[in-house]
Amino acid sequence: MIDTTAMSANSSNSHEQSAESVPAKARPASLSVVVPVFNEEESLAPLHEQISATLEEIDCDAEIVFVDDGSSDRSREILSRLQRTDPRVKVVVLRRNFGQTAATAAGFSFARGDVIVVMDADLQNDPADIHTLLAKHAEGYDVVSGWRKHRKDPWLSRRLPSRIANALISWVTGVHLHDYGCTLKLYTREIIENLQLYGELHRFIPALASWSGAKMAEVPVNHRPRLFGKSNYGIARTVRVILDLVTVKFLLQYSTKPLHVFGLWGLLSGLAGLILAAYLSVQKIFFGAHLAERPALMLAVLLMLGGLQLITMGLLAELQVRVMHEARGTPGYVVKEVLGEGLATDEDHDDASTSDPVAPSGRDAPRERRDAP
Ligand code: UDP
Ligand code: MG
Repeated sequence: MIDTTAMSANSSNSHEQSAESVPAKARPASLSVVVPVFNEEESLAPLHEQISATLEEIDCDAEIVFVDDGSSDRSREILSRLQRTDPRVKVVVLRRNFGQTAATAAGFSFARGDVIVVMDADLQNDPADIHTLLAKHAEGYDVVSGWRKHRKDPWLSRRLPSRIANALISWVTGVHLHDYGCTLKLYTREIIENLQLYGELHRFIPALASWSGAKMAEVPVNHRPRLFGKSNYGIARTVRVILDLVTVKFLLQYSTKPLHVFGLWGLLSGLAGLILAAYLSVQKIFFGAHLAERPALMLAVLLMLGGLQLITMGLLAELQVRVMHEARGTPGYVVKEVLGEGLATDEDHDDASTSDPVAPSGRDAPRERRDAP
């Protein structure tokens, strides 16, 4: 691991970690390997063999969670055979093809390990890299992202768009990774539990995880060409990634205060309209100017109406966001730990000076710490 990029996504939550105590072969308490599968019949047996070999070396409580995402080939049959021969294998079969994000989310909800590694089913990721991810995780990182430094995919249709997308995502989200698109990543259970995955957001997990203060690192991993079948994605994915980026940015920054985005632009637009209208009124009233043929009048009206609409939209979004967070029961922050007990019994109302942030309980907890995506 010479070429390791490591950064902390949230400086206030990170602890500088000394790297002295890194074991040669890191061994978590328990490990789940999650593999989304869509029509990968040829790859599954060798993949299972390779993952098993790695798990043998790690020697901890481990499971492999295959999620069959509505495959129409023999994937399900092969997976159920693998499951019969290996008790470590768990197979989750989805009713139809829901897409890689949904399959990954399903894998997460069935995974029981403290540490969760996700990888592709097409043998493009190398299971042996799980060691590298675990070693980095042992240094104190919550998310360890694989970086396909020597990627074996076509340059024009895959590597170039991916480079641009990675630069853009890094810039917009502030979470700097070389390779968002690499599925091979490690997450701690805590991070996954604070994550809601929809649409095609699986490649944004590190950015979304940064919201909960995850400490992140990136390690170069092996990448192999696809041997069987063909990729499920083409160049059109780039456009969708950019649209998703807008969503992610919004979720990360404004999901508890949408009026701050809409309202700002609304106010600016409304104010500009108002000033223009005032200027035109002065001209009309004091100088008898004719306004009928003045395009500026139209502009002033447009700006004022646009501003009003943006503000109203922001207010509606505020209502919606409240409904969403109430329904989910998400408090809008993530507690790392609570030190001390404060008021151990209910009567006293002395302040609890030993506690850092006092543990919130239930849904009525004060919403003061941070904004939830
Ligand atoms: N995949 C999935 N559902 C889908 C599409 C893909 O579970 O609808 C799985 C697929 O089997 C593979 C992984 O997601 O394990 C990545 O897909 P692919 O190899 O096609 O993407 P690429 O590596 O070309 O980005
Ligand atoms: Mg692939």
